[in-house]
Amino acid sequence: MITVTKTFLPSIELYNSYLQRAWEKVWLTNRGELTLELEEKLKNYLEVSHLIITNNGTIPLQIALKLFGNGGEVITTPFSYIATSAAIIWENCQPIFVDIHPEYLTIDESKIEASITPKTTAILATHVFGNPCNVIAIENIAKKHNLKVIYDAAHCFGVKHNNKSVFNYGDISTCSFHATKIFHTGEGGAMFCNDNKLFDKLFYSHNFGHNGPLDFHGLGINAKISELQSALGLAVFDNINTIFSERKKVVDFYNENLDFSNLKSLKIRENTEWNYSYYPVIFSSEEVLLTVENELQKENIFPRRYFYPSLNTVNYINGASMPVSESIASRILCLPLYVDLSISDLERIVSTINKFTC
Ligand SMILES: *Cc1c(COP(=O)(O)O)cnc(C)c1O
Repeated sequence: MITVTKTFLPSIELYNSYLQRAWEKVWLTNRGELTLELEEKLKNYLEVSHLIITNNGTIPLQIALKLFGNGGEVITTPFSYIATSAAIIWENCQPIFVDIHPEYLTIDESKIEASITPKTTAILATHVFGNPCNVIAIENIAKKHNLKVIYDAAHCFGVKHNNKSVFNYGDISTCSFHATKIFHTGEGGAMFCNDNKLFDKLFYSHNFGHNGPLDFHGLGINAKISELQSALGLAVFDNINTIFSERKKVVDFYNENLDFSNLKSLKIRENTEWNYSYYPVIFSSEEVLLTVENELQKENIFPRRYFYPSLNTVNYINGASMPVSESIASRILCLPLYVDLSISDLERIVSTINKFTC
């Protein structure tokens, strides 16, 4: 069976060599040495100044919204994973959707200002499939209207934009280290910011507000990662160059062999070093998508409709209609993309898609 993704597993010996250190110290959580080492390695690799590793990629969104949302309206994208909208509602804010750009698939910055009201507190946008939003335009809008900017950068491990990490944009960026993501710790994530004061707030927030064992520095929650997960992260990180180069091979194969006369691929924003995180294709209609999906399934190949549905249409959200996002969501399919996907499997995938796409 070929699925849309397959978790990268380092050798169990390598994982064990890191676990050994946790065993020797009898230390399993509370920012142990493995977590601190992983944070240092990631900071250097990603070229970011402030990073905190967390237990998943959703809680950093909640923490960011707790700090910036203020129970107000949060301008957001309907084309993302459910966590983006759910975090807004979970933090008692109201999601205000702004439609997406039809080619970049990120929030359409030209439509943001029309949605700002006196109740707007923040913008929460997603760098979709690792493709950066128009971060400069969004920064200008936010400055003009005194809004905070949060980026759901769950897909963005290793992405650079204008020669710097995409995590450096916005007031707070978040990432997911879930097992399905490019770099992972099983479950895990991170939050990023650019200034010391905000970093302190994020830091206290992620550890119950603890300032030493007896003192508390404001409201906090538990967003800490365990040493077991950090051990896995360190072992995965040792393979990071292979992960990127093998994924690039798959992406290159699709680019060179798919027939794009009736099919569109993702348009990556200019000045971006992308990370080969997903391979979405957009069909001419939902009908064609369903035919292709069905033909692939007959061969035991399971791509994923992602993102689907458009978040404004989710039953408990019920936002305003978003024609571009709804149209794209109905026609987009993410193709299998992982480290050991073979050329013969890729040939089967591509020939089926080319045969049934019209
Ligand atoms: C994976 C993902 C999340 C959630 O991350 P978890 O680590 O699973 O909590 C949030 N937003 C987007 C866009 C994602 O793809």
